[in-house]
Amino acid sequence: MKYFYPQLHTLHNPSIDLSDGLPGYKHLEVASRVSLVLKGALSAYDAEVVSVDSLGCEAVREIHDDDYVDFLVAISKEIEDDAEYVPPLFRANMKKSPLFFQGGMYSSEIGTPIGKESITAAFNSAQCALEAAKYLCVEQKNAFAFTRPPGHHAGVRRYGGYCFFNNAYLGANHLVQMGKRVAVIDIDYHIGDGSMEFATKDMPYFSLHANVHRNYPYFDAEFTNENEFVTLKEFQTAISGEEYVREVECLINDAVDASFDVVVLSLGFDTLETDYTQDEYIYVKPENFRTLGELFGALEQEVLILLEGGYDSEYLELCSHNFVSGFVQRKGL
Ligand SMILES: [Zn+2]
Repeated sequence: MKYFYPQLHTLHNPSIDLSDGLPGYKHLEVASRVSLVLKGALSAYDAEVVSVDSLGCEAVREIHDDDYVDFLVAISKEIEDDAEYVPPLFRANMKKSPLFFQGGMYSSEIGTPIGKESITAAFNSAQCALEAAKYLCVEQKNAFAFTRPPGHHAGVRRYGGYCFFNNAYLGANHLVQMGKRVAVIDIDYHIGDGSMEFATKDMPYFSLHANVHRNYPYFDAEFTNENEFVTLKEFQTAISGEEYVREVECLINDAVDASFDVVVLSLGFDTLETDYTQDEYIYVKPENFRTLGELFGALEQEVLILLEGGYDSEYLELCSHNFVSGFVQRKGL
């Protein structure tokens, strides 16, 4: 197993999250998340850390629409140092409006500000996922990519939820191109509404998440899943850590039934009971992450682990340590 570190992620430093209205609060998607998760992983298993400093521009355009990527690149050039961009309003088609307004075509919320170098960091995070996927494919070994910014809320032509490019499906797409059958399993607290858009027969999506109406991304009340390659499971409010682990086990069993060569795991640490991004309480404790690691470590298939959410700085290192400990122990590493 190797670790993959996006060297340019610190260029992305969102300052304020306006989601709860003015004056906003200090943004939770901070650079220190990656160092804490990496430190925890290294203390559990001393793998080689591959530092990735290039940008996955071409790979991003293989799965995201060109006009969407073009907009992100163009708006970045207009943003001044230390300034951040948030769309002033939201419309389905703003192609006849000035660039400054066009972000309203590609997002539907105000919690994901874009700084001057945010998109550079997002391209680097994408490349980090891609290099980890390439390593897994060539060496047939597991990989953990500390992708930041995260990706599972990014759709084909849509950003939000702190995500710009869908790292999990960038990795999955490469593996499918190499002839692998891939299952994408998502155990972040939140549903990967972006990932759902990419799910196909070759790379189906399986997610266990909080209620989608009472938690981000607050789906429309009429929402129903019509994609047969998307399997959605919701955990109950106030679920215990042990019950939650059993639900994850059921989700993995569903994916195994679908038959695959590789698992791409969207790993969020924001299921931890103290995480700030939950709108409802659940009771997953740091030690439960060890069991989660064991569940994925018990798989015969190689696992490409990608970092998604997780925002409680006090416990991120411990949760990461526990997950990797359980994972490598079961994998026999
Ligand atoms: Zn999340």
